[in-house]
Amino acid sequence: MNIIYSDAHNLHQPQFERYDGKDVPYAETAARVDSIVQALQAHDFEPLQEPEVFSISHILAIHNKNYVDFLKKKSAAVPEDQQIYPSDFITDSYAPVTKGTFQASVAAVNTALTGAKQIAAGEPVVYSLCRPPGHHAAHHSMGGYCYFNNAAIAAHYLSHYGSVAILDIDYHHGNGTQEAFYERADVLYVSLHADPNTNYPYTTGFADENGRGSGKGYNINIPLPKTTDTESYSTVLRGAIKEIENFQPRFLVLSAGFDTYVNDPIGGLHLTKGAYRRIGRHIRDMNLPTLIIQEGGYNIADLGGLVSDLLDSFRPA
Ligand SMILES: [Zn+2]
Repeated sequence: MNIIYSDAHNLHQPQFERYDGKDVPYAETAARVDSIVQALQAHDFEPLQEPEVFSISHILAIHNKNYVDFLKKKSAAVPEDQQIYPSDFITDSYAPVTKGTFQASVAAVNTALTGAKQIAAGEPVVYSLCRPPGHHAAHHSMGGYCYFNNAAIAAHYLSHYGSVAILDIDYHHGNGTQEAFYERADVLYVSLHADPNTNYPYTTGFADENGRGSGKGYNINIPLPKTTDTESYSTVLRGAIKEIENFQPRFLVLSAGFDTYVNDPIGGLHLTKGAYRRIGRHIRDMNLPTLIIQEGGYNIADLGGLVSDLLDSFRPA
């Protein structure tokens, strides 16, 4: 399995996020990636590959140019070791901007696009270890630790070669990804996530959001109760997989979040460590060319093991 990774994520180092009016330590840290890299090395996965550099036009296919220019300018202007909440193009207090935020976010997009290019060229499965994550990044806004929507940009790239299904298994609804494809019939978005009545992003992710215009029927949201365990998650996931199989996509993009893990400090369904191997097997059994894109997951001690378990399901026996 090809694994794409860029050191440039280290350029993005916010220290705090604002929760309930207070500054608390930033949860989406570089240490998350260290945990993943260490686990992959310990389990003899393939060596990490540097991403290629792609044209900014791929980002502009999903994001508003004024937003992209704004983030570039704001990011460059932040003094070293400081962070700001910009005045515009931001939806919440979970997307501070530091000096390296733009560069790291572009590198994460390149990481996703390199995987997409390999999948288009015939690789059966590629893991793009993206940081910052992307699925909350919308057309003209950052939010929820996300700046550019890595999965949406990769899915759009792949859509030039054939239809794409995006399966989002992060704890949170991928509002940015839903928005990107809400009126398109060539990209199906299916998301399993915690009930937005009581969970971020609160305003999207409800079951009645099923697409608009020619995209009607190509957006499937499956909100889950917090008490969902490995068994009930598996059952729901198999239903989601059936929907994807009916769509008959040429490619699958997996927005792989691990904040569904029971001991995740931010999310946390009742999924135990063994869940991710099982989830991986269900997805692998679709036998689709699969681009796996890293989204959330905040239990640093266990994150690497969870990722390694999921990826291991895709390795040849
Ligand atoms: Zn999440």
